[in-house]
Amino acid sequence: MEVLAALPPIRLHIEKLVNRTGLRANTLMASHPILAALPNPWVCNHLAPDVAFPMGTGSDAEASPLVAVDFAGCVCTEQFAPLHIEARPGGRVVDTYESRLKWHMDHPKKGSEDMSEWISTILKPRLTNAVNDRRAVTIFCDGSMYPKPRCRTGAAYRAYRAGRLLIRRGIACGRGTSYDAEMVAGGMGLAFATRQACDTIHVVADNEAALKTILDPSMHSQQLVSVVACRNVREWLEKDARRRVEFHWCPSHEGLEWNERVDEDAKEAASLPLEKDECSLAHARHLLKVQLCADWREEYRTARGYAGRNFLRLRAFDPPSAHISSPALKAFGHSRTAMARYCRAVLDHAPIGSFRRRFFPDQPTDCPECGVLQDREHILLKCKRYRRWWRLRGEEQFVQRLGAYKDLAGFMSENESAFTFGDAPE
Ligand SMILES: [Zn+2]
Repeated sequence: MEVLAALPPIRLHIEKLVNRTGLRANTLMASHPILAALPNPWVCNHLAPDVAFPMGTGSDAEASPLVAVDFAGCVCTEQFAPLHIEARPGGRVVDTYESRLKWHMDHPKKGSEDMSEWISTILKPRLTNAVNDRRAVTIFCDGSMYPKPRCRTGAAYRAYRAGRLLIRRGIACGRGTSYDAEMVAGGMGLAFATRQACDTIHVVADNEAALKTILDPSMHSQQLVSVVACRNVREWLEKDARRRVEFHWCPSHEGLEWNERVDEDAKEAASLPLEKDECSLAHARHLLKVQLCADWREEYRTARGYAGRNFLRLRAFDPPSAHISSPALKAFGHSRTAMARYCRAVLDHAPIGSFRRRFFPDQPTDCPECGVLQDREHILLKCKRYRRWWRLRGEEQFVQRLGAYKDLAGFMSENESAFTFGDAPE
């Protein structure tokens, strides 16, 4: 039933949640008692309390939740600064300099007809002005992620002033998500721009979430990048009351040349060598999801009792998936009776002869039409009662067909009485 509903086993789900909690240890403040109880390389500061239950002692040390925290938490190499002075509510850059920061985020829906008109009449003139401005530095940032191998990411920015390219830079940032890479690109770009003497900094990127959070020092992925960006922007704004920062969203792959170029830079940067392996918090969470799916697949394929001996092993359910909505629910979810009939057929728990033979041996088991034992194979492949468009020798052959899932779904809708009590042997 879990496989049919695309819901992973609760045991694996809980395991994932426990490990996710372990990952969160990375975001704790340095004086947190949990960090004080963890072994190297976890670091806590002098304000952390003395913890009387260090790991590795006691009779049942292996089962301690701290072991799970240590085990799962160490996967992530990203660092956080939850209590940084830039993150103090009321004193953040966005609180202090609200009137000197501006976000241009309004745009027509992606893929809509208005988009190209908006780009040519509003966005492009605005960005051209910014790039050509002598008193402004405009940075275009972009991040890229390649799923293979190992979700490697690259971040790049290009800075322009008075129509001229000032600098272009790209770095590899290890394993992460595209959001991670976009944040690093924005942080790098701002670090460069805030060292320039100019009136305005324009930051242009195609990731809305990254633009919105680059100056948000509260806890989120790549929070440390935001903290550093806040500090740079604060120092730069403090020097002159006329200085301003503007953030612009621009769509990717819409022919905006600045964006296309920095996109290429970021893709190249993803292949640069890295000194040591880095893994962001978001990527570590992603790995847990991958692990859950792998464990589930393993259980479905190898554990004899899990799916049941007679589970109709259609390709649509192998591997079982938790990411997409269940194909069975999509096809039959609208009707309770249809879904029930479908589940009975796949699980071989329908009121048919073979089921009776197992559980109610004193009741009739033969197909009323054909006079042989009514089992699933008989119904799907041979019985004269039903309409079908295949001639096969066995169930094995049926499930190996490429379109077996579709065929079964079609069979169920074509023959509405199949696998119901109405067609049970009498
Ligand atoms: Zn029959």
